[in-house]
Amino acid sequence: MAEQITHDVLILGTGLAGLRAALGIARRLEQNVNIGLVSKVQLMRSHSVCAEGGTAAVLQNDEGDNLDLHAWDTIKGSDFLADQDVVFRFVEQAPDEIYQLERWGLPWSRREDGRILQRDFGGHSFPRATMAADKTGFYEMQTLYDTLQKYDNFTRYDEVFVTSIIVDDGHFCALTAIDMMDGKFLVLRARALLIASGGAGTLFGFTTYSQTVTGDGLAMAYRAGVALEDMEFIQFHPTGLVPSGILITEGCRGEGGYLLNNTGKRFMSDYAPGKMELAPRDIISRAMMQEIEQGRGFSGPEGLDYLHLDLAHLGKDVVLRRLPLIRELCMKFVDVDPVVDPIPVRPVAHYSMGGIETDIHGKTNIEGVWAAGEAACVSLHGANRLGTNSTAECLVWGGICGEQIADVLQAGQPLPAVPADRVAAEEQHVFGDLLERKGPQNPYALSHELRRLMDECMGVFRSHEGISTGLRKLGELRGRWQQIAIEDKGRVYNSNLVNTLELENLLDLAEIAMMAALAREESRGGHARRDFPQRDDEHWLKHTLIRRTDDGPEIGDKPVTITHWNPVERKY
Ligand SMILES: Cc1cc2nc3c(=O)[nH]c(=O)nc-3n(C[C@H](O)[C@H](O)[C@H](O)COP(=O)(O)OP(=O)(O)OC[C@H]3O[C@@H](n4cnc5c(N)ncnc54)[C@H](O)[C@@H]3O)c2cc1C
Repeated sequence: MAEQITHDVLILGTGLAGLRAALGIARRLEQNVNIGLVSKVQLMRSHSVCAEGGTAAVLQNDEGDNLDLHAWDTIKGSDFLADQDVVFRFVEQAPDEIYQLERWGLPWSRREDGRILQRDFGGHSFPRATMAADKTGFYEMQTLYDTLQKYDNFTRYDEVFVTSIIVDDGHFCALTAIDMMDGKFLVLRARALLIASGGAGTLFGFTTYSQTVTGDGLAMAYRAGVALEDMEFIQFHPTGLVPSGILITEGCRGEGGYLLNNTGKRFMSDYAPGKMELAPRDIISRAMMQEIEQGRGFSGPEGLDYLHLDLAHLGKDVVLRRLPLIRELCMKFVDVDPVVDPIPVRPVAHYSMGGIETDIHGKTNIEGVWAAGEAACVSLHGANRLGTNSTAECLVWGGICGEQIADVLQAGQPLPAVPADRVAAEEQHVFGDLLERKGPQNPYALSHELRRLMDECMGVFRSHEGISTGLRKLGELRGRWQQIAIEDKGRVYNSNLVNTLELENLLDLAEIAMMAALAREESRGGHARRDFPQRDDEHWLKHTLIRRTDDGPEIGDKPVTITHWNPVERKY
């Protein structure tokens, strides 16, 4: 029998978005709330700790930056698919989040004159990347977590894997989860839920993401009846370390690093002469793939041909002070010291622009459910996210959702009953069906094949032929998934079982992303179709929405909110 636990609010995910929301609620409602914080990994191991380069905000208004400029950069960066009311809300709120973190104790990097230091980042027309050297996410997480310790109104559920979101009659009721430590099946009830479960970076083999970033929250929300929005837009970051895919922060180029081809040329002069290495990520990634395809790359292991990122001219002092983590990573993983030698890099899967459809307040179409951070699609990033806007988004919408949820709890949101048959069905799916399957297929082999498939057909460049072949092969993988066997049959810390549930989620998300990519017959931001190389505002200035139906995923769309600027040609 499943054990039932009740909270006022559940926060699914303890990355930047989840912790920021938790802190907002904890401070405001103090003794009048009890919060459940759920994470499948130890709290501080959420992927947010990996954020390197910085968090965007306008701080230097007196030196020429302003909110309109940040909004314009974000909208142009999004290839005009961002909702402009959302963008303005974001740029207005972001500076407060930076100062708030400072008051909570975050040691931002400083300038000589004592002000907060900000560096350049791709697509931003002013230095806005607020940073703590190149370990920004780590310091942000630590600060939020430390501050949360002042309150005693929350309970942590670390290493608790959520398997489903139970919704009844349009209202959130509960989460079902496996407590990994003892294998117990839990029903976590609450009046409200925030989904802050991060992105789906491990859909790809060559990715910057931690192995734990498997899109669970997106897949569970989709099954619970929420639409997924703009799922075709996946960001490829220009500089993944070859062959591991570890991120080499854009901060390297923000500090003045060069990208060079095998003739030693700074090839970005041919693609974005105005911005060079600080053009947005989609543009640089396409340029790099073209250089490689035209034979101007270096041949790398496992077909991972690469280009050079050169920092040597910056001097040892800059590298040691501003990019110490990058130097350490390069020395440990590829035996390259960037103070002297160039770093081998190529475009790498990095971010999901799409996600759970929400309104401007982070609310979904289900009563009692909000989503924030990378899991959500509040439509801030459109077709391409600018670097450093993501951690800022997590803070801003973590804050907004926290306030919204606190309002609803104060107004006395009721606690819905949990339909017992739904809990029983989920428990049967996990422990009866999946764990007991006895087929010839190994889930780890399938997972490897899925990621290879996504690398091949959903990479920087796409085509009708490639995606259609991908969908057909995905169908085969899904068939084989029915015949898997999980080796470990035990209940205690069964990582085989959890990894199989993660694969189930990734298989659903792969199909949705491919369907959306096939439908969008144009090139915009991170979605580049070889067969439709132009942006097509007449037909495609709209968001895609994919909903679950009994007959499979169904595709729809909704308009882009344009409040300030009409789309123009995007040149850098
Ligand atoms: C290497 C790297 C560097 C980056 N650098 C930057 C940067 O410099 N600036 C920037 O703006 N952005 C950066 N990004 C992007 C940014 O870090 C992320 O988009 C952001 O941190 C995501 O935060 P989040 O709170 O949405 O989720 P995450 O931090 O990913 O946390 C997700 C949480 O959900 C939990 N969870 C997920 N599924 C389940 C489940 N089934 N059951 C229970 N718990 C679950 C996890 O345990 C975790 O606690 C970077 C990303 C990477 C990968």
